[in-house]
Amino acid sequence: MNSPATGARRLPLDYDLTLDCIHCGLCLNSCPTYRESGRESEGPRGRIHLMRALGEGRLEPDTDCVQALDSCLVCRNCETVCPAGVQFGALMESARNQLPAPGLVPRFLRWLGFRVVLPNRRVLALLAGVVRLAQTLHLPRLMAPLLGSRGATLASMPVFPPADQRRSLPSISPSTSESLETVTMLEGCIQRQLFGTVNRATAQTLNALGADVLTPADHACCGALHAHNGDLEEARQLAQETIQAFEAIDGSAPLPIVVNSAGCGAHMSEYPRLFADDPDWLARANAFSERVTDFSKFVAQPDRARRLQAQFKAGPERKLAWDDPCHLCHGQEISAEPRNLLDLIPAAKRVELASSQSCCGSAGIHALLHPEESNALLDAKIEEFQASGAELLVTANPGCQMHWQAGFQRANLKVQTQHLAETIADSLGRESPGGSPTSSPTKS
Ligand code: SF4
Ligand code: SF4
Repeated sequence: MNSPATGARRLPLDYDLTLDCIHCGLCLNSCPTYRESGRESEGPRGRIHLMRALGEGRLEPDTDCVQALDSCLVCRNCETVCPAGVQFGALMESARNQLPAPGLVPRFLRWLGFRVVLPNRRVLALLAGVVRLAQTLHLPRLMAPLLGSRGATLASMPVFPPADQRRSLPSISPSTSESLETVTMLEGCIQRQLFGTVNRATAQTLNALGADVLTPADHACCGALHAHNGDLEEARQLAQETIQAFEAIDGSAPLPIVVNSAGCGAHMSEYPRLFADDPDWLARANAFSERVTDFSKFVAQPDRARRLQAQFKAGPERKLAWDDPCHLCHGQEISAEPRNLLDLIPAAKRVELASSQSCCGSAGIHALLHPEESNALLDAKIEEFQASGAELLVTANPGCQMHWQAGFQRANLKVQTQHLAETIADSLGRESPGGSPTSSPTKS
């Protein structure tokens, strides 16, 4: 890294946030990339140091610097342990907004994914259909040897489900018992296309609790991946569209917004920071964010948990392990609720994984851009999972679910991965129990 730089441009990142760091180093051992590399520049304190130097114009954003910042998982584990309250996630998003994406392939993938596919519901649906067809013809497996480590990632991608599982939820999913409340629910972009069963299980659980569930018809994407990767302009646009979509389906009073994807929930509850310079949108973002509630937190509220427990069915005992999505435990400080819910299920025997709050390596698009580093993080967790004797891995984020499933497949392990809502819905007697598929489809 070239430092000090003479005449380097001061990068207009959120410089004041760097000043909160008191350099104590308490975060170092919580950081997966620091533990893996042992390099200061790949830990939180070193990255903050780099960002401060960029903000002061003492450092050029050269290749080494950009790579050190790009290798961050934005898992926010460092925030959880930081005694000074450093807002590392917000700081990293503002820095990435000012840095060039390293390399042509990542730049192209980001443009394609963030600007073309994710913001457009129809393009994403079309792409999902094409990938499904390619998987049916086994093309990813045939192409994998040509693509090196990215080929292995491609080949172990979860199977896109058939079209009937990718369709959206109806705009109203009525309660299946006495109607007690009305809520809205985010379907998400990837979640809808890859894990439609998770959305159905979420709605089914809420319906069983007496909630009528409303979903906005044309909503595309909340913009979480955009923000985490520094595309704050598009993130702002998608946040505005999301706020408008949910405001439009409110009745006379604002309704809770139940979110089953940890990354989306963490981002949506922090929408206000996207609009610090826009008072009108800031007010709307504040009102919106207060309504956002994670699925596990909503369902674990004592009255609802009691109603849920009364409906659970007995079944053969299953040993399962919960893995905390980073943006649930670090981003939203929610870790007890999913465990409490799993412990209510009569057939579930939950085992605790010591590394459950350490990133699995999925980290948005990190697994696509850095497959070797990402897989190394997961492989260590898979070893621990195997030693636990669990037969089911439960989590609550589409990226994590996808990454774990791919890891089990790579390791040739027949282990099922489920979202918490699926595990709950199965215990309520879901008609088509399932989790992430493990093998290539035979028909589309
Ligand atoms: S966000 Fe995660 S990977 Fe990035 S510096 Fe913090 S602990 Fe390390
Ligand atoms: S724990 Fe917080 S204050 Fe201490 S070095 Fe890490 S980021 Fe800075």
